[in-house]
Amino acid sequence: MQTAIVTGGGRGIGAAISRKLAQDGYRILLTYSTSSKPAEMLVDRIRDSGIDAVAVNCDVTDAREVALLATHPWVIGGIDVLILNHGRYDRIDARSLDYAHLRRTMSTNFEGSFLIWESVKSSLRNDARICVIGSQLGTRGSPHGADYSASKAALALWARSLAQAVGSEGKRVNIVAPGFVDTDILAGDSPEKRASRIEEVPLKRIGTPDDIAETVSYLVSDDANYVTGVVVHVNGGLYLP
Ligand code: NDP
Repeated sequence: MQTAIVTGGGRGIGAAISRKLAQDGYRILLTYSTSSKPAEMLVDRIRDSGIDAVAVNCDVTDAREVALLATHPWVIGGIDVLILNHGRYDRIDARSLDYAHLRRTMSTNFEGSFLIWESVKSSLRNDARICVIGSQLGTRGSPHGADYSASKAALALWARSLAQAVGSEGKRVNIVAPGFVDTDILAGDSPEKRASRIEEVPLKRIGTPDDIAETVSYLVSDDANYVTGVVVHVNGGLYLP
């Protein structure tokens, strides 16, 4: 059985990716940093479906915790798929962003992904597939997410560079850039804000975590075996770069 790691795989978009890859037949090692309960509940649900799964506590900003991930027996046994999904978005006006906050966002969204990859890279199989969850804002920018946008832009270009470096080994690396997706990130929206978001999207709905998971599933499958280094925008037409 092939093994997939999903960072932040216990809730939100990550949970949908964990569920979908389990349906695709991968055993799932998902990580969480604070939300142990949903992570453990998801692991139970996946196991009930006959697929093995495990939840591992790993704060990606803690280099020691990330290094420990490499000692997990499933990681040592070889990784087929690595999904770098974790992320934070705190919505701060670009004019009042301070250095401490910038550091926190960069160390979670960008450096955290790098650290995970660095920790597990020697366990990636020759034909490993890596998928990074970026954001439309990583191309578009945002007046209330300068730190977030910069972190996602860095993440996407790092992933693209990696794709060019590891292609000759048979590995593929792609980026999925969601638009508006119904998770805790949008939970603070007023009904008016939500309605205006829907109006903004040509397909007239907010994306679901499953919309993102379906695309990830395709990118790590053999159906995409000539696809690498791309940014796939999954946003209902909201932003067309
Ligand atoms: P959620 O806020 O619902 O989930 C965030 C996930 O990231 C959680 O699993 C959380 O784990 C994990 N995480 C946060 N900080 C850390 C950390 N320091 N170490 C390890 N894990 C961490 O967000 P979404 O599901 O919406 O977001 C998933 C990805 O999709 C993110 O990268 C986000 O930037 C991106 N995205 C989301 C969009 C949206 O509209 N929802 C739009 C564009 C991109 P825990 O709870 O255990 O801390």
